[in-house]
Amino acid sequence: MYSKILLLRFPPNIVDKAIAVNLVKRFDLSFNILKATIYPRKEGMMVLELTGTKKNYNLGIKYLKNIGVKVESVSHDIRKNDDKCFHCGACTAVCLTGALYIERPQMTVAFNENKCSACELCVLACPANAMEVNFERGILE
Ligand code: SF4
Ligand code: SF4
Repeated sequence: MYSKILLLRFPPNIVDKAIAVNLVKRFDLSFNILKATIYPRKEGMMVLELTGTKKNYNLGIKYLKNIGVKVESVSHDIRKNDDKCFHCGACTAVCLTGALYIERPQMTVAFNENKCSACELCVLACPANAMEVNFERGILE
């Protein structure tokens, strides 16, 4: 399976079309919308994770470009804001890779970036919004 995070920009004339649904139906791709700002009759923007076979992924990208969607690749990483973290430990309960862990004996929560899979479960679990998602954009050829 091939998976990539993309930033899609929709011109106003196609913003109402069920583009994401077409990616599923026509190209057997699955998607996970990470962020969306779409207003009827205005330009829209969506960050989504697109997953499927490499062949179908490429066909899906071609379809998007053909209908006038601007496509950029986005990589994202997770950071822990130590100014906000109060070491409650909630994130360590949801982190499946062990990237967030409790340091003993001081009982503080530490973050090992190298183990992070960027699943974002900790972002939802943190009551202090200390786990932050950073997006980096690049034009998709
Ligand atoms: S859930 Fe948030 S505040 Fe609590 S330890 Fe994790 S990062 Fe820190
Ligand atoms: S994004 Fe996922 S893997 Fe990374 S620290 Fe958060 S819960 Fe752990």
